[in-house]
Amino acid sequence: MTLTARRIHEARRRIRGIAQRTPLLHSPALSAALPGEVFLKLESVQETGSFKLRGAVNRMAVLAPEERRRGVITVSTGNHGRAVAYAAHRMGIPAVVCLTDRVPEVKRRAIAALGAEIRIAGATQDEAEAAAHRIAEAEGRTMIHPFDDPLVIAGQGTVGLELLEDLPALDTVVVPLSGGGLAGGIALALESADPGIRVVGVSMERGAAMYESIRAGSPVEVEEYETLADCLSGGIGADNRYTLDLCRRLLDAVHLVSEAEIAEALRFLFREERLVAEGGAAVGVAALLSGKICPSPTDRTVVVISGRNIDPDRLLSVVG
Ligand SMILES: *Cc1c(COP(=O)(O)O)cnc(C)c1O
Repeated sequence: MTLTARRIHEARRRIRGIAQRTPLLHSPALSAALPGEVFLKLESVQETGSFKLRGAVNRMAVLAPEERRRGVITVSTGNHGRAVAYAAHRMGIPAVVCLTDRVPEVKRRAIAALGAEIRIAGATQDEAEAAAHRIAEAEGRTMIHPFDDPLVIAGQGTVGLELLEDLPALDTVVVPLSGGGLAGGIALALESADPGIRVVGVSMERGAAMYESIRAGSPVEVEEYETLADCLSGGIGADNRYTLDLCRRLLDAVHLVSEAEIAEALRFLFREERLVAEGGAAVGVAALLSGKICPSPTDRTVVVISGRNIDPDRLLSVVG
């Protein structure tokens, strides 16, 4: 399947009714702290607490009746698994979610509560993904990949269409970056509408697979570390087919932020905007507050707050 902006418009129609159209809010606190005006795209208010629902629903909506009956399988750092579990529950499809033992307990519980079967497979995302492929083969399940699938990318790209409608004169969109489905999808949606809009990816310093892969020009394997941005960890896949090319072509820059900068962004969102985000969803704010991204005084900058599924005790220990 070729990945064009048309796929994103199709996705929009398909996901309506399950994935929400999310609000875009002006941020008075960030606009006061930084040059220009800053807006927040709140994917954190999706039913499953992250944007991942968009791609999962778009992919699962096209399953054939026989594929639905056999069920789906996925691998996830938590949020995609929860999205697949939720969509599977709504569509009446049996689902298996492969997780590493690093996935936070809050995310595991949410997946189990939706009726999906959890299998803990391996210590790294790459190991868990290999296990998921083996199970898919053995049990005849369809793999719902967390990012490297044209329908998943098109689903995430619907965020871009909503931005164009809500803020036509936008200059820069700052997007948390891991496998690149979200940033790549948004960049594709925006590029075809207005190639002048800058799309900037942000990852954490510890284990930034897409950043390293763009620099190397091919998929680079990275170590996985403990990080506040747990939802951004994991590789891009040695046989990456779509997202590396998309991100390399369409992202204007990629920045890395430290754990201290992520913590500061979580505090700022909580204390100044009364917003809850998870670490990986706050990296855009971290890149702005640390000065790694410097808007000009006339810029309208959108920051995607991609999810809110942080362990409450962890959040309190950071913002307290
Ligand atoms: C998965 C995820 C990301 C990264 O999305 P990719 O498509 O893998 O780049 C960012 N934020 C949150 C909250 C996520 O769950």
